[in-house]
Amino acid sequence: MEQEHPRTQGGAGHSGLTVLAGPTAVGKGTVSTYIRDTYPEVWLSVSATTREPRAGEADGVHYFFISSDEFDRLVGEDAFLEWAVVHGRNRYGTLRRTVEEAIAAGKHVLLEIDLQGARQVKAAMPDARFVFLAPPSWDEMVRRLVGRGTETPEEQQRRLETAKMELAAEPEFDVTVVNDDVKRAADELVSLMGLTPHARQASH
Ligand code: 5GP
Repeated sequence: MEQEHPRTQGGAGHSGLTVLAGPTAVGKGTVSTYIRDTYPEVWLSVSATTREPRAGEADGVHYFFISSDEFDRLVGEDAFLEWAVVHGRNRYGTLRRTVEEAIAAGKHVLLEIDLQGARQVKAAMPDARFVFLAPPSWDEMVRRLVGRGTETPEEQQRRLETAKMELAAEPEFDVTVVNDDVKRAADELVSLMGLTPHARQASH
């Protein structure tokens, strides 16, 4: 399913940083959760956010849940490699120091962030590997978003509008991975990062 874009085929080497972005509700979170649980050799960045934790989310594991004042303070200290207001509401940011230290230590670093954040990282670290996670189809993406049932109808509508714009950004990325199956997509991402996917039973 991987589609290398021609301009980057056989291209220059990447730093140890991989950025995974894609439209809302494409399953970025599910893929990164699978990677967190299955691939300890991947150093998955934990973002800071001003949004409230959902059921089952733990501080320091899924996000650092911080106040708006604390977020302001970190912005003022230039502590973020990138940050953005996502879906017009909450702020999310990648903590610069931990990511830079992990890259310097030779770790395989993965950021799962939104498109605005991916563009900021591209400006700051153009050698990173930029992976676009695409839905198998638009209808499937809508189904997943509505099916999740964690957002109000207005919030769903807002997320779908964002998703349309985000789909148009695919050519900005080095490579596209289609999220037709979480494990398969995660394994493909891990291979792109230069790691060996764990052996598993073929699902097709
Ligand atoms: P959720 O609230 O559903 O966990 O995440 C909403 C969106 O925020 C997702 O698209 C996710 O990729 C994005 N996101 C999570 N962490 C970061 C971050 O550190 N920076 C940016 N720019 N986006 C993030």
